[in-house]
Amino acid sequence: MDYNIGVDIGGTKIAAGIVQRDGTIIHQVKVPTPKLGREAILQVLKEVIVELTLFANKKSITLGGIGIGTAGQVHVQEAKILSGTSNIRNWGDIHLREEIKAYSELPVYVDNDVNVLTLAEQYFGAAKGYQEVICLALGTGVGGGVLTKGSLIHGTWGGATELGHMSVDMNGELCNCGLPGCLETFASGTWIARRMSKLLTEHGEEHIDVASITGEEVFRFYKEGHPLAKEVVQQMIQGLSIGIINLIHMFNPQIVVLGGGVMANEDWIIYLLQENLKHKGLRALVNGVELKSAELQNESGLIGASIQPWLYSTNKFSIENVQ
Ligand SMILES: [Zn+2]
Repeated sequence: MDYNIGVDIGGTKIAAGIVQRDGTIIHQVKVPTPKLGREAILQVLKEVIVELTLFANKKSITLGGIGIGTAGQVHVQEAKILSGTSNIRNWGDIHLREEIKAYSELPVYVDNDVNVLTLAEQYFGAAKGYQEVICLALGTGVGGGVLTKGSLIHGTWGGATELGHMSVDMNGELCNCGLPGCLETFASGTWIARRMSKLLTEHGEEHIDVASITGEEVFRFYKEGHPLAKEVVQQMIQGLSIGIINLIHMFNPQIVVLGGGVMANEDWIIYLLQENLKHKGLRALVNGVELKSAELQNESGLIGASIQPWLYSTNKFSIENVQ
C-alpha cells in the first residue's frame, strides 16, 4: 500500500494526515487537543480518522494502515497507552487499537512521539541513510529514540530509551521522575526557564518578569550577553554534553540528532556542543560522531507516525523504497 494515515497526538494539537510513501502529506487535518481529556480526545480521533478515510475513498486511494504517535508510555505490541503525560488529561490505560477497531478495519500501530520523530528523521530527515542513531527531542520535557541496525530499540514493551530521565548529576535538581539531575533538568524548555527564574530571583533582578519567563527568552537574553542567561546556557551545554557522551559510550552511534522546540532555529547549540565534546569521553567512540539538528519541523510527528504500518506490516519498508 502506498498511503497510510498518520496521527500525532500532542498536548496542544492533534495533527493527522494521509501520507504517501515518499513522506508527502496529501491531505491534512489539525484540531486542538480537547482539554476535557480521554473521551473527548477519542471522539476527535474518531472524527479525524473517519474524515481521512472518506477523503481516501473519494479519491480512490487505498490506505494501508493507521500509525499514531503520542506522548506518554506506549505498549507497542498491544498499541496501548500505559501512562500518559501531564500535558494531556486522563491520557493513560487506553487500548487505542481496540478503540479504533470499532470504526476502522485498518491495522493500527502506536508508539511514543519521540520514537516516531526518530523514524521521520531516519527516513526523510537528518538521519537518512544512517543505521546507528540517537535522537534527542528537547521540548517541554526531553525525550529520546535510539536506532540500532536501523530499528528502534523498544525494550520489553516499548518503554526503552527514556533518555531525558538519564541522570547526569547525582547531586542535581530533583526531577519529577524521582531521580536527581536528569538530563531533562538541564535541557528541557521547562527547566531552562526554571533555572533562569531562580537565578534572577537570587540576584534580585525581579524587574524582569521572573514567573513567566520562557526558554526562548532565556536564549534571547543569552544572545544579548546577559550573564545569568550565560550561566543557564553553560549548565544546559554541560548537562547535554555529559548526557550525549554517556549515550555515545553506550550505543556507539554514527549520528546524534537534536530536535524539539528548544532546538528550533538554535544551531549555535550544536556548535557549542561540538566544542564541548572535543574534550570529553573516549576518543575512539566520540571522534567521528556527527551531531546535527533535526531537519523536519512541524509535521515530523505525523509523518513519522505514518511510517509504522509500512515498517511493521509484512510489506517491509526500506530506505531504498523512498529514494
Ligand atoms: Zn527524570
